[in-house]
Amino acid sequence: MESMNDDTRVVAIGYLEETESWKLGSRFFPSKVGGKPAWLDLANLPSNEDLKCPKCQNPCMFLCQVYAPWIDLESCFHRTIFIFLCVDADCCEENENRTFKVFRCQFGRRNDFFPFDPPIDDENWRPDLKADSYNKLCIVCGAKGTSHCGRCKKVNYCSRQHQIVDWKTGHKEMCRSGIMKPESKSMRCLWLLPEFELVTGREDEESEEEASCSSGNCSSNEDEEEDSEEAEKKRLEEFRDLVKQGKAGTFQGNNLVDDELLQMAAQDEDKVFVRFRSKVAKFPQQVLRYERGGRPLWLTSDNIPATNDIPPCPYCKAPRQFELQVMPQMLNYLALDGVSKSVDWGVLAVYTCQNSCNTGPAYKQEFLWKQDIHKPTTDGNCNNTKPATTTTTTTAVAAAHAAATKLSSATDN
Ligand SMILES: [Zn+2]
Ligand SMILES: [Zn+2]
Ligand SMILES: [Zn+2]
Ligand SMILES: [Zn+2]
Repeated sequence: MESMNDDTRVVAIGYLEETESWKLGSRFFPSKVGGKPAWLDLANLPSNEDLKCPKCQNPCMFLCQVYAPWIDLESCFHRTIFIFLCVDADCCEENENRTFKVFRCQFGRRNDFFPFDPPIDDENWRPDLKADSYNKLCIVCGAKGTSHCGRCKKVNYCSRQHQIVDWKTGHKEMCRSGIMKPESKSMRCLWLLPEFELVTGREDEESEEEASCSSGNCSSNEDEEEDSEEAEKKRLEEFRDLVKQGKAGTFQGNNLVDDELLQMAAQDEDKVFVRFRSKVAKFPQQVLRYERGGRPLWLTSDNIPATNDIPPCPYCKAPRQFELQVMPQMLNYLALDGVSKSVDWGVLAVYTCQNSCNTGPAYKQEFLWKQDIHKPTTDGNCNNTKPATTTTTTTAVAAAHAAATKLSSATDN
């Protein structure tokens, strides 16, 4: 029961760990990535319409959920944010947020589903506390299963698409034989992302390296951060000079210059990206940042939303505030190649009702802003007017991923 609450302004960092799947059930209030959603309100699930991609009409795929209660509000004693996305190649466009769905669900300590006392960390404890006890669920994705196989009537589906997927990946045989096998592996990799627990820590916690040099001569965290930001800025400036002098190509050919640095410099990215990189360098494995009412850590200075780009809460009309962001590093864990090669993002910033209001449905829609890296053209110059193509998106973001991977392998030692 890892929670991200707001007793302090410190940013909470989320990273991924493998764990036994029973620990990620609704009864333990998990934060997690992939697999099926561990619904919080077990009865009143989002409708199939709510989970449909507005562009292609296919059901969206579950990405992650973050358990984020507000300790100062009794109605938010239990509170979880859920994120879904469309993985259809044609829907994955640069800076396009309509193919993401965010839901907020919450209730008090006394509620219709879970006991007043905390859960007991035991596989056999209250296995009945799950959405299946209240709803028929889609066997493929775990959303509300409003239709079923007309022949055997034994399995439910959220949509025609998922019925077809299931038929093709094993149900055809099972339906005829009448023997239901557990979900097949092939189906899982088609429609569910790999499942991980989302574990949290505080950004200001000392890393092992910093803790080991406790004997006095070490500079403080802040200084180190400033230093690395300065150093990074200097590298970028030097490199930009080389670009101006037309010498960068030579360096690139000799592999003396990082690819991602080349791209960033060519795009005239500076302070924002430098800050992003230095924050990531401190905790290279971070896949999520949580700071309710704080500010997102943007990847670039382009496509940052203005206040009026964030629509107010549709239920209580209060403004929304920043709550959490998914980092591009999460993509490294998702094995998306088997699903869709087109899914990419720089930063996914989630904004939620500043009152975390109780009006509206059990799963209230919240707002997500998607920021990508704008893409350089082949000659290395940025050209924002050119329409996006999947190939260039992949290349530009791959550079950011490569940077993150490089950083993480450097600190692992
Ligand atoms: Zn779509
Ligand atoms: Zn489904
Ligand atoms: Zn059947
Ligand atoms: Zn509201």
